[in-house]
Amino acid sequence: MSSGSAVIGPFWGGLESRHAGRYPLSVERHALVQVARLLPGVTTVTPHARYFTLHALVAHEAHRRGLVAAEAQELLRRAEVVLAAITLKHGAHPGMSAPHGADIIRAAMSSGSLDIAQLSRPGTYAQASWGFWGPYRGSESLLGLTKWEASNIAPGVGLKLDEVRVALEPVLDLAAHDVVDNGDLGACLGCCLCGCADAADGRLLRGLLVPTNPDPRSNGGRRSATIRLILRILQLHEVRSVTRDAWPILAYDQSLTDDPLCASLDIADAWRGVVLRNRSVLAWRDLWAELVNSIAGLTTIASLGDVLAEALPSGTIDSYCESLPDVGDRDRLLPAEIDPALVARNVLDRSLALLLLGGSRVQRLPDRVAAYFQDPSEGMQELAPSWVAEWRAEWSARSLPDFARWLVGVLVARSQRIALMKASFSRKSGTFRVPARVFVRDGLIFRDSSESGGAVSLRWDQLTSVMAGAGLCLASRKDEALVWRPTQRGEALLG
Ligand SMILES: [Zn+2]
Repeated sequence: MSSGSAVIGPFWGGLESRHAGRYPLSVERHALVQVARLLPGVTTVTPHARYFTLHALVAHEAHRRGLVAAEAQELLRRAEVVLAAITLKHGAHPGMSAPHGADIIRAAMSSGSLDIAQLSRPGTYAQASWGFWGPYRGSESLLGLTKWEASNIAPGVGLKLDEVRVALEPVLDLAAHDVVDNGDLGACLGCCLCGCADAADGRLLRGLLVPTNPDPRSNGGRRSATIRLILRILQLHEVRSVTRDAWPILAYDQSLTDDPLCASLDIADAWRGVVLRNRSVLAWRDLWAELVNSIAGLTTIASLGDVLAEALPSGTIDSYCESLPDVGDRDRLLPAEIDPALVARNVLDRSLALLLLGGSRVQRLPDRVAAYFQDPSEGMQELAPSWVAEWRAEWSARSLPDFARWLVGVLVARSQRIALMKASFSRKSGTFRVPARVFVRDGLIFRDSSESGGAVSLRWDQLTSVMAGAGLCLASRKDEALVWRPTQRGEALLG
């Protein structure tokens, strides 16, 4: 029998590992799913058109040479280093973000040459062994450019080799060297990211992004319609930052509602529903972030409720709702969510107001918009807009601050439920991994790290960047700012 002094543990606290989780209230799902559905093939991490076609060329070359995965990875990394270096050599590109791995590659080029062998080593310009193919892989697969086959990269069915090769073969030629002079890159500036628009690979990519006469219900059909919608907005309005400027135009601007082309695009109503729902997502996330970030040390849930209550006016829910702008009706959506007086309120007040506006839109949207604003399956799900409408009616004549305290209790409980739902047991470390920043113990709440708010990405900025790379739109300077416009090729799609 062992002596008591040899017994170690139990380590109740040490068996749990906490880490910052994403989506702490899980209010993003509907918007994320709809954005992916309405814009398949472009994501938040695929900004550059030419990486799509470069990866396709590498896929073909690896297949042709019979390369095993490790060899294909090296070829792909070398090609990505060369593409980035050529782009950096070409200079600044207004409206275009830097090529992948730019900081490290730019610093290395200051020596006057490009050490491709060194830079393309795993963990150098990119952390992943497949370089930056990972973020693009799903999109390229949807477009038919590359695919994942036998644990290796392979060419997709949409690849037209001649069009990619004629545009990008010099990249592969340079990638075969271990070191090249920066001057050698200057001879290949046609392979720069900006060269895609007027080259054969740009033509290929345009054809894949916007196929001819697609089934409107297919991925290609929805993507084409979204591209035409965004191009039409860029044509009719002065747009500088696409997501920031275009969503209110789409949601509220009568000129767009009346525009024959937009009216012919069913997808416009779908996006209207999504961008309006995104205001509620923004509101929940901003509200939660503000509350969480106010937690200093151990706090009672009641005092966290006070934080929200004290940020709001006194009075009833009814009187509060009377102070909110009108959302309009099925025939006319009014810009309540961007009303200047509402925007000027403190974050907590503004967020609660946005939630109530979302609730009041539930029965006042055209049918096609409503279907994308809230999925019928969401019904009375907690925190959905119809749930907000329900408690707004239930609390109508009661105190707003009391309601605020009740709501904070709901959110805290939900955050813990969500964290536990996403928790997992690690056999390796023997710990229970809980993804959350906020924890409740014995009625006291504390936080490990700060929370950030913000709406779900619509992917419109990345789409515009890909469209620019493919020659469908461009950013030109006006009054010290960049304004996006469709190119002639883009306008041709608007017929
Ligand atoms: Zn360029």
